[in-house]
Amino acid sequence: MKMEKEAMYYRKLDNNYVKCDLCPHDCHIPHDKAGRCRVRKNEGGTLYSLNYGEITSFALDPIEKKPLYHFYPGSRILSIGSFGCNLACSFCQNWQIAHREPEATYVTPEQLVQVAHAHKDHIGIAYTYNEPSIWYEFIYETAPLIHEAGMKNVLVTNGFIKDAPLRKLLPHIDAMNIDLKGFTNDFYKDLCGGALSPVKETIETAFKSCHMEITTLLVSESNDSFEEIEGLAKWIGSISREIPLHLSRYFPAYKMELPPTPMNLMKEAETIAKKYLDYVYLGNIAEVDRNTYCPQCGEEMIDRKLTINIHSLNEKRCKKCGKNMPIVC
Ligand code: SF4
Repeated sequence: MKMEKEAMYYRKLDNNYVKCDLCPHDCHIPHDKAGRCRVRKNEGGTLYSLNYGEITSFALDPIEKKPLYHFYPGSRILSIGSFGCNLACSFCQNWQIAHREPEATYVTPEQLVQVAHAHKDHIGIAYTYNEPSIWYEFIYETAPLIHEAGMKNVLVTNGFIKDAPLRKLLPHIDAMNIDLKGFTNDFYKDLCGGALSPVKETIETAFKSCHMEITTLLVSESNDSFEEIEGLAKWIGSISREIPLHLSRYFPAYKMELPPTPMNLMKEAETIAKKYLDYVYLGNIAEVDRNTYCPQCGEEMIDRKLTINIHSLNEKRCKKCGKNMPIVC
């Protein structure tokens, strides 16, 4: 039976208001209203998580689909999502669950672990599809149980979360794919209803704690100038050249009707990003080289043409030149 779940990270204010401290929106919420994410509601001065245990999407996916290319390549992961989002990207690819009221099935953390056990041949759970950071309480309670059961936890997130809740959750997270949606605050403000700096802070913090890859959807005429792409790649490279960057091609979705990002621009973006990063992959494109090569000697390490084949990798080192490869497997 569904239970009411009191939210973590909020403060009670006068007149039955509450202030939510989970994400940088800092919502002040009156009685009987929800925050911007629509999933945290004030009832009589207590903040509740409305999506606790509510699952709208469930699939056994290749890990490469998250996308994570350097974390157990070739494995599968049980991918689940709920509903709601704390950003409002006009090009949202998952708007049916992020911004609508989809049907959901309620499960407890213990039941989800049982479901994960019942499915064979996967490495654990990916919290994905809608924004997992606003599913905070459910993930915070489920992730340690998944670890106890010998499985992995993966977050596919927009990174728009405050520092304290992020740090409390990170010990239970093995890998993250963080959306860095653009590299100007105007893009975040005007097209996503957010801000750039909290996402950069999340990336810097997460990098020190777990395996991390970054995805940027290049949206035609919006965040795809060569100057912006260069700034973004240079900044990631200043943290580490070894962070994989996935440059994903935009197609019209939700409220955005601009044409798909031109292919020649995607290729040029890849070239620019490779000046600062060792592993740049293009996504949402059928005919593209998705293989991983040793950045030192050029040897092919992982072949992703039809099936995933790991070769030329010996105890995380390139078999040809011995370079240490940042691949978790
Ligand atoms: S998590 Fe939701 S309620 Fe809390 S501050 Fe962010 S948008 Fe507002």
